[in-house]
Amino acid sequence: MTALTSVSGFPRIGGDRELKKSIEGYWKGRHGLDEVRATARRLRERHWRLQADAGIDLIPSNDFSYYDQVLDTAILLNAVPQRYARLAFADPEDTLFAMARGYQGDKGDVTALPMKKWFTTNYHYLVPEIDDATDIRLNGTKPFDEFEEAKALGIHTKPVLVGPYTFLKLARNAKAEPLTFDRGLINAVAQAYAQALTRFAELGATWIQFDEPYLVLDKEPGDVELFKSLYTKILPARADGVKVLLNTYFGHIADVYETVVLLGFDGIGLDLIEGRDENLAAVGKYGAGESTVLFAGVVNGRNIWRNDYAASLGLVDALRRVTPNVAVATACSLLHVPFSTAGEDGLGDDVRRHFAFAAEKLGEVREIAELADADEDAKRASEALAANQALFDGTRVAPDQAVAARLAALTDDDFVRRPARAERQRRQREALGLPLLPTTTIGSFPQTAEVRAARARLRKGELNREDYDAFIRDRIDEVIARQEGIGLDVLVHGEFERNDMVEYFGQRLNGFLFTRNAWVQSYGTRCVKPPIVWGDVSRREPITVGWSSYAQSRTDRVVKGMLTGPVTILNWSWPREDVSHELQTQQLALAIRDEVLDLEAAGIRVIQIDEAALREKLPLRRSDWHARYLDWAIPAFRLVHSAVRPTTQIHTHMCYSEFNDIIRDIDAMDADVISFEASRGDLVVLDAIHDANFETEAGPGVYDIHSPRIPSTDEIVERIDQILAKMDASKVWINPDCGLKTRGNEETWPSLEHMVEATRAVRARL
Ligand code: GLN
Ligand code: ZN
Repeated sequence: MTALTSVSGFPRIGGDRELKKSIEGYWKGRHGLDEVRATARRLRERHWRLQADAGIDLIPSNDFSYYDQVLDTAILLNAVPQRYARLAFADPEDTLFAMARGYQGDKGDVTALPMKKWFTTNYHYLVPEIDDATDIRLNGTKPFDEFEEAKALGIHTKPVLVGPYTFLKLARNAKAEPLTFDRGLINAVAQAYAQALTRFAELGATWIQFDEPYLVLDKEPGDVELFKSLYTKILPARADGVKVLLNTYFGHIADVYETVVLLGFDGIGLDLIEGRDENLAAVGKYGAGESTVLFAGVVNGRNIWRNDYAASLGLVDALRRVTPNVAVATACSLLHVPFSTAGEDGLGDDVRRHFAFAAEKLGEVREIAELADADEDAKRASEALAANQALFDGTRVAPDQAVAARLAALTDDDFVRRPARAERQRRQREALGLPLLPTTTIGSFPQTAEVRAARARLRKGELNREDYDAFIRDRIDEVIARQEGIGLDVLVHGEFERNDMVEYFGQRLNGFLFTRNAWVQSYGTRCVKPPIVWGDVSRREPITVGWSSYAQSRTDRVVKGMLTGPVTILNWSWPREDVSHELQTQQLALAIRDEVLDLEAAGIRVIQIDEAALREKLPLRRSDWHARYLDWAIPAFRLVHSAVRPTTQIHTHMCYSEFNDIIRDIDAMDADVISFEASRGDLVVLDAIHDANFETEAGPGVYDIHSPRIPSTDEIVERIDQILAKMDASKVWINPDCGLKTRGNEETWPSLEHMVEATRAVRARL
């Protein structure tokens, strides 16, 4: 008998993003919901069959979603706020889309539910809203329908639900605050899940998977009790034959493992990639129930490299020392990896064989399970194992000796910029001659259809490089003149030449690879296609210097150079697994450092190094924040700019304001200026800046660029006053809260004019 194989979840967007195209087509009025439903059904069938053909025993169902699985769970539990229910759509999909994206039309006008990043991934979930008026009960049939849909195809699936603990911990009340868990709420939620179990039993399901990734976070007082009280109410609803798999991922559950064992789950899913050591230690200490199956999450759902079978077999064996009941599983849902390497001919077979996307990972799960039960002779004879071993024997890519030598030669001094920031700030003020409350933007200006069309024509060879460059120069001339015209103080060149802030740099650095079709869902129908770090990273030649110095040559005002920082480039790429993230980030830091110094040499006096994704990979456990991340991520940023002259001003930018808890680390990046998002009314971060004695000059965004709304001068004045109540005017910058590339010119220019007017009004009375 071979060990049981299980997949946590499968990508639903489709190998050619069919679901995206179908749903967006519906939104644009090109076709009706019938088309969307049919596409969805086709995709579900295709994905189930793919898994069945690969020999997966526990194939997930209800992992499909039109938009987001957390939103689906909210709807299933009847957590649909009145403002959406009141729109009274005839089709449930329309209510779902209204919750996901807002609705403006003849039925009413509502904004969307807030969206947040799903743990440390770049996937975003919709935040469920629960308040006193919410009547939690099982009110939907999606999971049951999909189970039956598969059954009708002859495929017996394992229904997957976002678990009650994770659901409640992610939900917020109408004021966006965490919930207080009173008994009524806990009972209602538990009862709904218990009913779902009963229903699945009636339908003939054998395994049900409850996803509880929230269990890998640090526990607050009351969390363990909440978890226990939910499941002591739910588990008795298991009818004969229905088994419950408690699935955890993105880290370890060592602090509740004993409780989990005592609750008597039929299966426990453990992430043996991200939570390996702690999970193994907990299993070693507390064992497992006699009939409990441990699901060894050994196939990485967060990266795209081939699995190292020898390592995975070692992990399966480690669990088998505790119990014979071990299943082989993906470490988390495969939602976070692209569909298949099949279409990536451009990579060449020698390169491509190192990668396993979702479809290929199915085969890995299967092969690992077979090998886990093979005796030594069979293993020695196994071609699969030998072929896998060959991928890891020897060197995949020759190390870049020059890069290694540069890194080895670094000393502590290379991570420290001198003189101290206070002294630099004084000299910069003098050298740059900026007024109080200097105004600036975050870098990009609207990427109009015209700009994107020009890039597409260049790619297709319909426009030659010279004409394209001339086109970009025209855009720069235009944007510089307009910024001067409205009176901004620090100008930008507009980033018209960039497709994406990471891809643009990746394409110009050694060590990166690009795929044709390796899309991953980011939110709703939006997908991203991260580049792959394949080898050691270094810079071939200057990347941005030409454009920045051209822009500077067109004006007497200061033009800010614009770069993406090393941590963000790594976090938005597929990192290597053969060397540490720390090392990859340092290599990137050296490459960007070269660019910084070349910009400076070319006469650029202000340089912004964006770290938009710095917080994304902050470990989930507080005890890991420094040791496993910040202790190298922050110095890597310092390495990028430590060698510039005191009068060269270094800016950074972050796309969020939740950095209260790491505010000292952000200050330790030792930038001269930071701009960040500070949506209206979010004063917490201003308090934190005040309390922490934050040294970096700061531009908390004075208006929200994520909306087409044009803010009035008065409301920006009000916003600046709020900022000045908390910060010293000599340290305040005035800017929007993020780049303007997704906006149109119609709203961008009036908004910026109002921003400059508001700043002048405030300056006049300081
Ligand atoms: N400089 C980039 C821009 O303006 C920053 C983008 C971002 O913060 N995501 O587009
Ligand atoms: Zn941003």
